[in-house]
Amino acid sequence: MDKKQLEQKVAEYNKLLSEYGYAYYVLDQPVVSDNVYDQMLHELIAIEEANPELIYPDSPTQRVGGEVLKGFNKIEHRYPMLSLGNAFNERDLRDFDARVRASVGDYFSYMCELKIDGLAISLIYQDGLLQTGATRGNGTIGEDITENLKTVHSVPLRLNKAISIEARGECYMPKKSFANLNKLREENGEELFANPRNAAAGSLRQLDPKIAASRNLATFIYALGGNGEDYDLTSHSETLDFMDKLGFQTNHERQKCSTIEDVLAYIEEWTAKRSELAYEIDGIVIKVDRFDHQQELGFTAKAPKWSIAYKFPAEEVVTKVLDVDLTVGRTGVVTPTAILEPVLVAGTTVQRATLHNEDVIREKDIRIGDFVIIRKAGDIIPEVKEVMLDQRPEGLEPFKMPTNCPACDSELVRLEEEVALRCVNPQCFAQIAEGISHFVSRNAMNIDGLGERVVEQLLREELIKDVSDLYTLNKEDVLAMDRMGEKSVQNLLDAIEASKSNSLERLLFGLGIRHVGSKAAKILAERFETMDSLANAEKFELLNIDGLGEKIADSILAYFNKQEVRDLIERLRGLNVNLYYTGKKVNTEDIDSVFNGKVIVLTGKLSQLKRQEAQAKIEELGGKVTGSVSKKTDLVIAGEEAGSKLAKAEQLGVEVWDEARLVEELSK
Ligand code: NAD
Repeated sequence: MDKKQLEQKVAEYNKLLSEYGYAYYVLDQPVVSDNVYDQMLHELIAIEEANPELIYPDSPTQRVGGEVLKGFNKIEHRYPMLSLGNAFNERDLRDFDARVRASVGDYFSYMCELKIDGLAISLIYQDGLLQTGATRGNGTIGEDITENLKTVHSVPLRLNKAISIEARGECYMPKKSFANLNKLREENGEELFANPRNAAAGSLRQLDPKIAASRNLATFIYALGGNGEDYDLTSHSETLDFMDKLGFQTNHERQKCSTIEDVLAYIEEWTAKRSELAYEIDGIVIKVDRFDHQQELGFTAKAPKWSIAYKFPAEEVVTKVLDVDLTVGRTGVVTPTAILEPVLVAGTTVQRATLHNEDVIREKDIRIGDFVIIRKAGDIIPEVKEVMLDQRPEGLEPFKMPTNCPACDSELVRLEEEVALRCVNPQCFAQIAEGISHFVSRNAMNIDGLGERVVEQLLREELIKDVSDLYTLNKEDVLAMDRMGEKSVQNLLDAIEASKSNSLERLLFGLGIRHVGSKAAKILAERFETMDSLANAEKFELLNIDGLGEKIADSILAYFNKQEVRDLIERLRGLNVNLYYTGKKVNTEDIDSVFNGKVIVLTGKLSQLKRQEAQAKIEELGGKVTGSVSKKTDLVIAGEEAGSKLAKAEQLGVEVWDEARLVEELSK
């Protein structure tokens, strides 16, 4: 390559890598895989090393992380939050080991840890109390995400010791939560997160902490910011034990290794076992353990020289797209799925891969008959990474989504701001069938024996039209259906009968109100106690409930506004389906507590108790916790920085306590 071509290549890579970096770090929506990004970056590094005059100040090799998002306050890190050097194979690791040995000699040890695939966070504690939490940002300045991090249960609000310290670690989304979140987003026609890392970053960089709170995030702390010697620590392994004692969650799969052979064995072990973990890891981090050794090795501008991150190669395989299957979900979203020639990926046989929506198919230009590279997003959900265009057989037509619903043939629509196509026909067979399957599912009415096939058959034979008809089924009709024996019919009818006395939250969830998952249904049932009071609730009452946002409130109002919904509820009532909350209630009469019978509002930041914890304790003692201060309020508990609610309480002359008083009374 001559000089001019090289210059062009560097310019092109700078541009592409900064676009990819922006999509990844700022938008949390990567447009290429990490492997593609890493390969390009490494090629660029190699060119720059050989031609230092081609290193431009805006080169992605000169940056540590991403950018600081507008909308958040900025936090300047006391010590820069650096990146890590990367190793992709055994040779890279042996080179690293040789460099370490050349500097510190042969007598030292490594700490090996799992490389958690989340995002780096910094937590500052003052006298044992959490002050601020931040993202890494660009390494020097991060985003203030304190409120969001406070919703993460493994972030201690108070340490076991009243010391001032900075903890650094990784915030991540467990695999299961990631799968559930994407499933919900798919059902709602929203864009999917590419992997748990982006989902965690997207959740923490929300301006509304309720969203972060609903995402089940977790943390592992892996370092302290600043000088370990200030805390009488001499090594990284001691630091992790110290962090454990302070109340942080550290990862216990770590291992001390005295040779690079031991490190390689650890890597081999976890390469095989990584799929068993409940969270995603993308490699292994290797750190020289003792601080004096670390100091001898020092830093580059971007990363410590005493540590390296080994990256797992992504497991990818090639297979053929045999067909594209279209399914219509409960909310009418039409989801395309590739039917594949069966192939083994990361331990399981894959025959189907979601194609998400029309945009994804078009961008990747996936056609029936194509050879495609399959991998598992976040090691869980199989997806088509890319098409092997050079192997495309001749004559394949671009795939077109249908214009009409594959189930009921009515015209599909694309709602504003949605990527999905939807069938909006309320009579659509597939939607009704999915809706009924949801109604009977375990977390909803829990009616065993009604698999998808039976539901479809009941609908086809017109034995049912909606969920209320389940309660009118009689034995003879069901017995007349294919493959239904006497015993299974009786069991089914018993299960239907038993479901009539379910508590309200199961019915609410089963009705499939948009955005109302099982958790929101529980909160609503507890608060409103009856279907009627929820159906007649005002928007402000819904918004007053902790854990419910505007989206859910609007969706509930719109749902109960429909005449057909009101009719359905009347039919269910007529069929003796329970419309009340019958969950655990406290018999308050005989509780001897200052909280009993009082209407209480919690406001401001609580530092000793989590808000939900305080609420649960008060409710156990017969108090009722509400969201807004009014004349009916008996008591306001004001934490730090309490604002308008405290002012209102003072104005109305409502009794106010601080957190210390609350804790004291709760412990009586
Ligand atoms: P990195 O992911 O290579 O490694 C450093 C990070 O590892 C630390 O900041 C920390 O957050 C994390 N980590 C996890 N467990 C750790 C542990 N036990 N000890 C120490 N650190 C631990 O570096 P990076 O600068 O955060 O990000 C670069 C990564 O982002 C690369 O993997 C790259 O592929 C990816 N990326 C992808 C795209 C894309 O478009 N796909 C774009 C930009 C960056």
